[in-house]
Amino acid sequence: MERTSQIPGRFVVRISQDLGLQEVDGACRRASACRLVCSLRDFSQDRGEVVTMKVLFTQRAYSSIVKECLAFPKTETGGILVGRKTADSDFLIPFVIGSGPKAKRSQSRFTPDVSWQQEILEGLFKRYAVNYLGSFHRHPGTYYQPSLRDYRNARKITSSPDWDVYEAIFPIAILNGGGIQIYPYYLSRKSKGFKPISWEIISNKHHLVRSALQRRKR
Ligand SMILES: [Zn+2]
Repeated sequence: MERTSQIPGRFVVRISQDLGLQEVDGACRRASACRLVCSLRDFSQDRGEVVTMKVLFTQRAYSSIVKECLAFPKTETGGILVGRKTADSDFLIPFVIGSGPKAKRSQSRFTPDVSWQQEILEGLFKRYAVNYLGSFHRHPGTYYQPSLRDYRNARKITSSPDWDVYEAIFPIAILNGGGIQIYPYYLSRKSKGFKPISWEIISNKHHLVRSALQRRKR
């Protein structure tokens, strides 16, 4: 049988172990200050690492990100990306879980409703054997680079034994006219910093999606 996707971890990721994940650092709002931090720390790029894999959002998943961002145009918001790695090590994302009904949002910070997210993630894990692959959040204005806070949170996710996530993607979305623009960044346990990762939108009926979404055999 053709191997089309890798088996995800045996256990569902416990996203509830880090409430600070998608809070946007105040520096994100002050673009000039944030750029200064970037230039001093240079945490947003790992120049030595070559990332050849890409992110494959299904049309439905991408629409969910757009919908979440446009639903809260005055405040921060975000969500988690759920799917599995393909045989080519690409990140296949058929599901996006939004911020949730009890998420707390303000202009520069937001805290997702993690128990709601966890419940949906567990349902998807049981049904389709898909798991947490990353988190996205929207930045104010046109600031598409990750903040220091973003980097610290991503580093925590990819290095903490509590999360048990070796690598993940962390897209930043900004509003653009009536839509959004998205900038995914990759970080693994061995990365020295974020790396921009290419992405594309694929059909909901793409063969990789159909293969990934076959129900888990019991
Ligand atoms: Zn941010």
